[in-house]
Amino acid sequence: MIHPATELKFVNEVIGYGVFATSRIPRGTMTYVKDELEICISSARFDQLKPSLREQVEKYSYKTRQQTRIISWDIAKYMNHSCHANSMSSGWGFEIALRDISAGEEITDEYGLFNMEYAFPLSCNEPGCRGMLYPDDVLVYGELWDEQLRLALDDFLTVEQPLLGVSGWEGKKILEFYLSSGEGYRSVRSLCAPRRDTACIR
Ligand SMILES: [Zn+2]
Repeated sequence: MIHPATELKFVNEVIGYGVFATSRIPRGTMTYVKDELEICISSARFDQLKPSLREQVEKYSYKTRQQTRIISWDIAKYMNHSCHANSMSSGWGFEIALRDISAGEEITDEYGLFNMEYAFPLSCNEPGCRGMLYPDDVLVYGELWDEQLRLALDDFLTVEQPLLGVSGWEGKKILEFYLSSGEGYRSVRSLCAPRRDTACIR
């Protein structure tokens, strides 16, 4: 489930649609949580789908460490990648705002945490764009992403969290332990499956 202060807007012909904030979302706010209504597709089921359906699933899903594809039932599936993302997946089953997101600003994601199988070109067109997304990006940038997430988590308890009460969220208890003790941080590396082969690694 996406943060309630969001809307779907057309970006351009190349990118298609994106998710935009309708009011300010401060750093540390949960922007997305994997709730119990998300559509989960196992790799076995995915392999049995018709090519046309597989294509749509690939476009709108993210993949867990266990290779399950998740498609959001709401507009969360339209979130686009940015190499300077303002929202990022944490190790606790939710995404968090890495910095203050202004009203009208697009909410963007780091696709490097979605267990992509193939390298593909990126079209962020902004300074610092990596140009290509590689399946092993987490090995290169994981530490930096963890740093950004830890800073955002510092604000978790001081900002409004409309998604905190969403049912079906599995990570709540262990997050509470981390926030109260500072121990047990869950690295973004826990989101990513170990690479089984080296064919698609940079
Ligand atoms: Zn980029």
